[in-house]
This record gives sequence, C-alpha cells and structure tokens, in this order.
Amino acid sequence: MANDLTKLTIAEASELLNDGEISSRELTEAVLASATHQNGDLNAYLEIFDDALASADEADARRRAGERAPLLGIPLAIKDNILIEGKRATSASKILENYIATYDATAIQKLKAAGAVFIGRTNMDEFAMGGSTENSAFGTTKNPHDTTRVPGGSSGGSAAAVAAHMALGALGSDTGGSIRQPASFCGVVGLKPTYGAISRSGLMAMASSLDQIGPFTRTVADAEILFNVLKGNDPLDSTSAPDSVWSDKKIEKKKLRIGVPEDFAFGKGVDKDVVENFKKSMEALAQEGHEIVPIKLAHITHSLAVYYILMPAEASTNLARFDGVRFGALKEGATLFDDYAQTRGAGFGREVRRRIMLGAYVLSSGYYDAYYHKATSVRALIEEDFKQAFDLSADGVDIIATPTSPTPAFKIGEKSADPLQMYLADIFTVPANLAGIPGISVPSGTAQRDGRDLPLGIQFLAPHFREDLLFVAGRSLESVAGRNA
Ligand code: GLN
Repeated sequence: MANDLTKLTIAEASELLNDGEISSRELTEAVLASATHQNGDLNAYLEIFDDALASADEADARRRAGERAPLLGIPLAIKDNILIEGKRATSASKILENYIATYDATAIQKLKAAGAVFIGRTNMDEFAMGGSTENSAFGTTKNPHDTTRVPGGSSGGSAAAVAAHMALGALGSDTGGSIRQPASFCGVVGLKPTYGAISRSGLMAMASSLDQIGPFTRTVADAEILFNVLKGNDPLDSTSAPDSVWSDKKIEKKKLRIGVPEDFAFGKGVDKDVVENFKKSMEALAQEGHEIVPIKLAHITHSLAVYYILMPAEASTNLARFDGVRFGALKEGATLFDDYAQTRGAGFGREVRRRIMLGAYVLSSGYYDAYYHKATSVRALIEEDFKQAFDLSADGVDIIATPTSPTPAFKIGEKSADPLQMYLADIFTVPANLAGIPGISVPSGTAQRDGRDLPLGIQFLAPHFREDLLFVAGRSLESVAGRNA
C-alpha cells in the first residue's frame, strides 16, 4: 500500500483521507520516501522540506476536527520562483542562492489555508527563462520517462515531480509555455490560467504582462481542483481579475466546436509523430461528438518573434532589482557601477544575461519604435485573431486545439548550444500568453524514441476566463487518449 499511495490522484487521496482510510501523515511519508529516493537521479527538487510531516499532522488534526476540503493534507511541490515565507526561494539562480522569502505568495497563502502540504521547492530554468530546465544554476532535471532527456521547462522540476510520483500535484509558472510544455514532455496535465485569474503576488516576475501561476496534476479533474482553490481577485495584484468574471453563468457545454489552425499546427518543423498523434486525437474527439473545424489565425506565425521581443524587454526591467543592494548577493567592485557589474556578471547565468541585453536593446530609445512598439502592435493583432476565432455569433469555435510542443522531449544538450532552436520549441505555447487566454496541455499518447515511449500532449485554448471549456475538452481527451496511444 505504502508505494501505491504516491500514485493516487488528488481526488482519490482526498476521498481516502475523508473516509479515514489513510492519514495525511501516511500519504506524506510515502511521497517523501519516493521524492528522497528518486531525487538523486532526477534532480526535480532543489530542496525537500523538513517540515512536511508537521504540516501533514496539522492537516490530520484539522480533519479530525471535522474539516473537509479537497486539498487538506495533499502533498504538493512548489516551483522555486514562488515565495513561501521563511523558505529559500532562488529561481534556480546563483544570485538568489541564499535568499529567504519574507512573505507568502497569495497562491501559497491559499494553499496553506486549504491545508496543502508542501514537499519541497522544484528546479527550473533560471528566472523561468528556458524550455528544458538546463538553465538552472543547480543542475539539470531529468525526464522520468528517459533520463537522457530534458523534462521541458522552465517548470521542469514540478512536471518531473508529478510524473515520477514525488508529489500529487505541483505549482509552476507559465510566461510562454513553462507549464504546458513540460507537462507535455513528462506526460502530465498542465494548466496556464487566464491572465489575471490567479494572483501573481509573490511570484518572482519574469515578464509581468505574460506570467501566470498554474497547476501540474495527473488528471484534468485534479487541475480543476487546484485551479478553483487558487483563482480569485487579490488586491495585492493590480492585474488580478474581479471575482465577478467567474460568477456569470457558464453554459454547461458537453459537445464543443474545436477549431484547428491547420497551417500552424502542421507547419514546418513539427515532428511527424506529433502530427499523427494530433490527427488521431482529433478523430477520437470527433467520435466523442465534438465538431472539429479548420480555422485560420492570420497573425499567429508572428507570435514567437513578438514574444521574444516583449518578454526580454519586460524581464530586463524586472531583473533590474537584482543589483546586490536591493536583492541578490553583492559582489563588491572598485566603484558603485563595478558593484553592479560584478554582482550581475557573477550572479546571472548566460541565458539570463542574454535576455537582459536583448531587452535593454529593444527598449533603447533608438530601437524602441522598431522593436518594442511594433511588437506590442502585432500582439494586439494576435489578440484580435483569437477574439474573432472565438466569436460564436460569427461562426466561431468554443476552443482551439494544437499540439503542445512540436516534438517529444529532446535530449539533454541537444538544443542548449543554440538558443534559437530552443526558442522554436515554444511555437505553440506563446500565443496564449500574448493574448492572455487560458491553455491546458493534456497527455495524448506517446511516440517511440530509442525504444522508449515518450509522452505527447495536446493543447486546448479557450476564451478569457473559460477554463471550464478546457476542462470539458481535457476530460474528453483523457477518456479517449488511451485508445490512440
Ligand atoms: N520557454 C519560454 C522561454 O524560454 C517560456 C518560459 C516561461 O514560460 N517561463 O521564455
């Protein structure tokens, strides 16, 4: 039994806990054993917390006192860029190696109130910049399905932890795909909520107009459980949406019109196994009664270019605070300027420095109009494309489907020398962040590589605040994915 506990979904564990069949202590002990046992191999966690069992005991006490809540006593993993008061939070960067969070992120406060147990903080690309977790200052995380391959990124540690049963669920952050792409590579569910759905307070900012916290889980139902706990207005985040967006009556739709932007989804560079799996998945969804319709998104092919201008611009601004004075380990130089140069030169890794330089460049007075300003205009066109596609009064669709990633998990080292190759891997995920719409990646089968089955995922996109439609589509895909694996 002890081993099997780690394989429970959140919903199953919650039921067993409510029925008194298991305690959170037992469950947490099993998950801790699994995490400790595998972490040497996988490096999913940067730290496994020593107070998880104490939290589990607290949750058990709350349950004994009559409390019932879906996350009470459930062991979760937290990405290392989300603050937990009193715990180290490094964003997998040397510059924050010894930083201890002074407050809880709002998402963490909510999880604590819900009684969740934190197993540890997970590895990631430094400051969430990357798609493979190879940019961590503390070593690469390995894909549990094939340890010679990357888990995806930037939330690779969270994805690997959930896939390898080192947590029942996890939090990640997604600026351009960092939840959905690793979820796809590791064979788990990953949700990037609508921009403004979950508070960003206490999430280390990468690109503020694109960042969202979201869950990793093994099932769509579990993603929904976590999302419902995490969402909601927060006065500490001025971009957080008012609660009224959730209360207008959503029509329970079971059969969806699913749009497929074919030119985009089957474009150049998309692996043929990915295309085949995608087509089969759509056929299976059609058999379930959904309607699959080809659509066009006129400006979608510009998404990557737009993203890789806006994201570094915002990141370069956000990362200015790591100067050794306000934040970050100071390295003293001969002058004040030298302090900054030494601190940032030693503290930031190559990819972070590359993006800060790119960002400073596109924002500089001579180039602002040509790059940053132009990119914001094209971003508006991409948003408009989605609006039109989702306009049901004009023959639009309920949701859109694409592969999550153009390839299955690649080899460690395969793309790390060529940043452009790495950026191309984000082709399907960045549009949702640019438009602020929600996206989910759901496992859709596998592709064989070197005799191993590597997970593939389908991404669904919905209009703002229509996560409910993603859950409908996701559950439907889950019910058929086994059949087309
Ligand atoms: N892979 C993308 C990037 O490198 C996405 C990162 C993210 O979502 N945090 O920017």
